[in-house]
Amino acid sequence: MIRVTRSAVIDAPLERVWDVLRDFNSHWAWHPAVGESRIENDEPADRVGCVRNFQLKDGNHIREQLLALSDSEHISTYCMLDATLPITRYVSTVQLKRVTDGERTFWHWQSTFDTPRGREKEFSDLVGRSVYEGGFEGLRSYLRRGARPTPAAATGAGQAMPAKAVIATRHGGPEVLEYRDVQAAAPGPGEVRIRQSAVGVNYIDVYVRTGLYPMIKPPDAIGVEAAGTVVDVGPGVAHLLPGDRVAYACPPPGAYATLRTLAADQVVVLPDDVDDETAAALMLKGMTAEFLLHRTHRVRPGHSVLVHAAAGGVGLLLCQWARALGAKVIGTVSSEDKARVARANGCEFPIVTQHYQFATEVKNLTGGRGADVIYDGLGREAAAENLEALAVAGHWVCFGQASGPHDGLPDLGSKSGTLSRPVLFHLTADRTVLNDMAQRTFAALRAGTIRVEIRHRYPLAAAADAHRDLEARRTIGAIVLIP
Ligand code: NDP
Repeated sequence: MIRVTRSAVIDAPLERVWDVLRDFNSHWAWHPAVGESRIENDEPADRVGCVRNFQLKDGNHIREQLLALSDSEHISTYCMLDATLPITRYVSTVQLKRVTDGERTFWHWQSTFDTPRGREKEFSDLVGRSVYEGGFEGLRSYLRRGARPTPAAATGAGQAMPAKAVIATRHGGPEVLEYRDVQAAAPGPGEVRIRQSAVGVNYIDVYVRTGLYPMIKPPDAIGVEAAGTVVDVGPGVAHLLPGDRVAYACPPPGAYATLRTLAADQVVVLPDDVDDETAAALMLKGMTAEFLLHRTHRVRPGHSVLVHAAAGGVGLLLCQWARALGAKVIGTVSSEDKARVARANGCEFPIVTQHYQFATEVKNLTGGRGADVIYDGLGREAAAENLEALAVAGHWVCFGQASGPHDGLPDLGSKSGTLSRPVLFHLTADRTVLNDMAQRTFAALRAGTIRVEIRHRYPLAAAADAHRDLEARRTIGAIVLIP
């Protein structure tokens, strides 16, 4: 049996290092040798027993299982289940200890394993150098990345900073939105302040503006998604530093702003290959597509999937990803132009209808069966046709209401159907789940499974125009506001 042991001192507080390492699926973000990685069966990445399935950048493929995780001792132990490398009985432990003469962390990494006779040195060097020493360096540069603190005097850190924001002055149409001077508060405990470079527009912003979703008390800023750079962090924030490029998709509203102060645990550090505009277009819509296709209903090859607003922000991502999963993707769109875009993004059968008439065609396309799953962001006006278009024992996923809220719950007895009313923010409230969903979304982008093409950019001050176009069904794909 071979034993490999390495240790290093990392120039960051223990809490910050542990925040990264306790996530069993974090290596793709910081380890130079690790490529795409996911946790199998949608389990949380900190659940003992979960399996990490990842690719090394040299092409090898490994599955490892988390055996123990202690937040009090800062220890994580895992073993290898399968590998395309000739390594067997691999068990490894990571342990952190606080360095008492400063804000630094001692990291001990060790493992035992077997290899074929004669190859012991080769593999102990591989594990010791490429995996462990490479990992120490990778984490150091991950923590340092863009993290040069700007002098407090230059940023106004510690004090409120002048900013601009789009305020809903009362509930109503796009005309209630006003671009105003505001103050971005200094971050309190557990908070971060971000200088925003791109803001995502979502249909939920319309519901907030009109008052359908009572999430603000006007006058108040709206918006739930943005990307930018950390200005400063409040006490107790371990996973972010000034200079980090970040993004978020979360309540409370207030994202339509040049500077934003919010809870740091909802903020995700962006990988280098995801630029700010892409992140602002992707965080909310991409994670929505991720949970709808992988968690609310697990789409499998051959499933007939009906996607409404198939050329919309969420719709295009749903079509791309569902097609990559092997589903038969049927969509509804309101124009030939949108049908062309939907088709180019995985929707094999776009149905053009402005008045929510699609059930007959869905049945024709599915040999009379109907759709196994309906992703319904339309609501009231499409309800009767959706019931008609649903297969027996089908799954109706009501996740939005662009045409108005449902009058009542649909009666699925006639179809032995199931109904879901999922909300992204309920899932992402758990930071481990948020990280997992964000990473899976970034991985899908990296793999080319999903793509983001931003056709609509508006200055932040013109947010009302963006809302007018969105509600008039004039937009295709994502909309981004530029502060
Ligand atoms: P979209 O870009 O899809 O825009 C809405 C689209 O809905 C329009 O482009 C239009 O497409 C269609 N639509 C049909 N009828 C109407 C109508 N009466 N008024 C306006 N639009 C209509 O928006 P998003 O991608 O931001 O969101 C899509 C849906 O997903 C929304 O219902 C939203 O609330 C929901 N959502 C839910 C989440 C959740 O967690 N539950 C998270 C994220 C989004 P067309 O012209 O082709 O018919």
